[in-house]
Amino acid sequence: MEFLGTLDERPVWPRATLDDMLGTFGGPLPADGLDAEAVVEQLAAGAGPGLVGIPGGRFFGFVIGGTLPAALAADWLVSAWDQNSGSAMLTPTMVALERIAGRWMLELLGLPEAASVGFVTGGQMANFTCMATARHAVLARAGWDLAQQGLRSAPAVRLVVGADRHGSIDRAARFLGFGRSEITVVDADDQGRMRPDALERALEHGEGPLLVCLQAGEVHTGAFDDFAALIPIAHRNGAWVHVDGAFGLWAAASPSLRPLTAGMEHADSWATDAHKTLNVPYDCGMAIVRDPADSIAAFRTGGDYLVYTGLDPWDVTPELSRRARGVPAWAALRSLGGSGVAALVDRLHANAVAIAAGLRQIEGVAVVNDVDYTQVMFGLASDEATRELGAAILAEGTAVVTGAEWRGRAVLRCSMSSWATGPDDIERTLAAVRGLVPG
Ligand SMILES: *Cc1c(COP(=O)(O)O)cnc(C)c1O
Repeated sequence: MEFLGTLDERPVWPRATLDDMLGTFGGPLPADGLDAEAVVEQLAAGAGPGLVGIPGGRFFGFVIGGTLPAALAADWLVSAWDQNSGSAMLTPTMVALERIAGRWMLELLGLPEAASVGFVTGGQMANFTCMATARHAVLARAGWDLAQQGLRSAPAVRLVVGADRHGSIDRAARFLGFGRSEITVVDADDQGRMRPDALERALEHGEGPLLVCLQAGEVHTGAFDDFAALIPIAHRNGAWVHVDGAFGLWAAASPSLRPLTAGMEHADSWATDAHKTLNVPYDCGMAIVRDPADSIAAFRTGGDYLVYTGLDPWDVTPELSRRARGVPAWAALRSLGGSGVAALVDRLHANAVAIAAGLRQIEGVAVVNDVDYTQVMFGLASDEATRELGAAILAEGTAVVTGAEWRGRAVLRCSMSSWATGPDDIERTLAAVRGLVPG
């Protein structure tokens, strides 16, 4: 509570380095133990300078949400209960809560109600889980039993992705044995959306098992692929369509933003995060698969001492022993209700529009993307000046934005992902940036 109470005043970016913190907590392992209360006191007293103000209202770096109070307390309960949440036979309360959270989310996002929902650590593992399921399924449709026959002699699976996919897609592909040279990359437009004509051309030649990865929410621009155009093209070619919607899937929970996701519900699998837009504590992501039988085929484990009760967490994720990280998601959904989730997503979008409008009014600052969702990119006339502004903002301490490159130019990224961001945070951030832009 003390830490949360300091968020409004402390610098958002840490003031201590890794070496400082190694010094604070390091040294040889003491031979003698310490009373539990003293251990916690030591942690709380020493951690501060190396902590970043992520749960506060002015952390806009990467794509990182805060923590809703109900989700935070639910996370403490999950630790106190210490339930190994792989199966309903062992931990019925946890599996029930995760199953309900999954159903609620499918309903909110307009996804098939019978889909499987696997709670994993985040978008990276959700992409991996869905893509592993997809590979298993497209090979099965080609008459190849991956579990029995293995990958070595299997028919080649074509993996088709957009030019502005998230890096976690490539990383998941690597875990699955796809080499970089084996991935087909389809052109994107100026906002990072896959071009339907380019997908059509990419699929024209070639045959066999096919996996097409689309995206809801490009990490820099926030742009959404045109699912209504792309998914029919992919399906006509026999593809499994996966959607990486780490933060963008949640647009579907808002009646006013839902059109961004039009057609998305026709995909075969979807990856998303709860620790971004839904504002639950780290870590929590969801791997969603249209047909639970495909999840079971890819992930059900063996073992004569394990009891199967239908659709258990260990049937739909790569994990065996696991934390019930879906319980904080249940708490977040229960505390917000359906209308509250819609209002949260709308507010994140409104915050992005407001900060973009304020930035445009600062002499010399350009906003470089269409602010359709929660992401804002901006910069100054030269790359060097943009990078210097980014460093100056972190040093000044009012807010955090992080840098990137977009279309060969340096940019600063401002991601509206926290429930805690209010109008005052936008004003304070704009005032700080105004004071730092060389005039
Ligand atoms: C954040 C993000 C990921 C990775 O999610 P993690 O929760 O960091 O594992 C994947 N795709 C997109 C579009 C993202 O924004």
